[in-house]
Amino acid sequence: MHNKTIAELSRGLQQRHFSSLELTELFLNRIDEHNEKLNAFITVTDELAWEQAKQADVRLSSGQSNALTGIPIAQKDIFCTQGVRTSCGSKMLDNFTAPYNATVVERFNQAGAVMLGKLNMDEFAMGSSNETSYYGPVKNPWDIGTVPGGSSGGSAAAVASRIAPGATGTDTGGSIRQPAAFCGITGLKPTYGLVSRWGMIAFASSLDQGGPMARTAEDCALMLQTMAGFDEKDSTSVNRPVEDFSATLNERLAGLKIGLPKEFFGEGLDPEIATLIHEAVADYVKLGATVKEISLPNMNLSAPAYYVVAPAECSSNLARFDGVRYGYRCQNPKDLHDLYTRSRGEGFGAEVKRRILIGTYVLSAGYYDAYYLKAQKIRRLISDDFKRAFQEVDVIMGPTSPSVAFRFGEKSADPIAMYLSDIYTIALNLAGLPGMSIPVGFSKNLPVGMQIIGNYFSESRLLNVAHQYQQVTDWHHKTPVGFCDSH
Ligand code: GLN
Repeated sequence: MHNKTIAELSRGLQQRHFSSLELTELFLNRIDEHNEKLNAFITVTDELAWEQAKQADVRLSSGQSNALTGIPIAQKDIFCTQGVRTSCGSKMLDNFTAPYNATVVERFNQAGAVMLGKLNMDEFAMGSSNETSYYGPVKNPWDIGTVPGGSSGGSAAAVASRIAPGATGTDTGGSIRQPAAFCGITGLKPTYGLVSRWGMIAFASSLDQGGPMARTAEDCALMLQTMAGFDEKDSTSVNRPVEDFSATLNERLAGLKIGLPKEFFGEGLDPEIATLIHEAVADYVKLGATVKEISLPNMNLSAPAYYVVAPAECSSNLARFDGVRYGYRCQNPKDLHDLYTRSRGEGFGAEVKRRILIGTYVLSAGYYDAYYLKAQKIRRLISDDFKRAFQEVDVIMGPTSPSVAFRFGEKSADPIAMYLSDIYTIALNLAGLPGMSIPVGFSKNLPVGMQIIGNYFSESRLLNVAHQYQQVTDWHHKTPVGFCDSH
């Protein structure tokens, strides 16, 4: 049963083959059994889950339900959850219980979904391996000696090991897509502004976007349906009608124009990954697509621009953690200055401090024009590259990450090497575009993800393109040994 997708579980609930209480019990038991090894959950909210499951069953029997009613879901611990610890993977917020729900959480509640708990993540979503979490790293269920990716590593590991059928993630530079790739699941980073950021703890506000992580594109469509939509509490939320993301999943792909950017297949890409991407693209050709080489000439500038913009915005966003209002406060401060410096010094981890230092530097008088303003100009060049590309093609395909999941410690001492695991994902955030990662095979016994990039608000198209591939392949059904054996 735990190997079923959200869509299948939903049908079972609607037809009353099992109840939400039974389903919730199953997943809570699986969390009990496997979480110690994986460290995917920071907090398990079993009491809340029981309560929500009970209510969902009432709704299901009264016919007032929708596709997510009664479905257990887990939330990345970056989304504020009323009455439940919301840590953001940081010592700074270890003692923080959110007084309100993020809009995303509220929408899952309104749909009648059941929250299993809060998922581990890199501290304040800064990282690509989950090694920066205050709660210790999440393990990749495919090989517990390797990282699950980051920052939504808890979400990816939970879905891959089937201890949650679906999870939320957030993506500032790749944090949904890269862990989805490393753990062999499907993840979608929506167009900037499609999903409300209200109550989603801010890292880099002009880049951050929440999205679904699940087994299949079909499941991502169901989750996105609940997550997307205008929110007047988020000033960057886009006010446009929400499409029915499941309606076009089955459209044929005949005539689909795929662009392969030559910059995505150059130096640094593991050749086995390149081969698998080309094989997946060949499957698309069989489905009727045509392929064209394109160029995104400013791709090489995306990582340098990101590592100016993201730290700059984070240094400003994280200024609110001062030991006064909420979060960690140092013991026995001598005076106000000591309170600030020691609370921040003791509450934040090394990577977060590195980003705050870089961000403060690039925003300071005299450097702002040279760094921040320059980076903003590069953002425009990058979005213009995509704009040109989308005049010629419908979607762009390429690798999600240059390598498969790496081993713990392999990159943690070298921030630049770590930053490069996002070289193919970062550009989309700078441009605000949507992208997905879907499983397309294995290299060295570890999952490989392919990235599919679409034009603004083309989520329906992306989900359709991913779903059609998943109808003719079964990479998304592969399960890691030791976690998912059917019983
Ligand atoms: N790995 C990137 C970083 O460390 C992206 C993180 C994210 O998308 N939240 O900033």
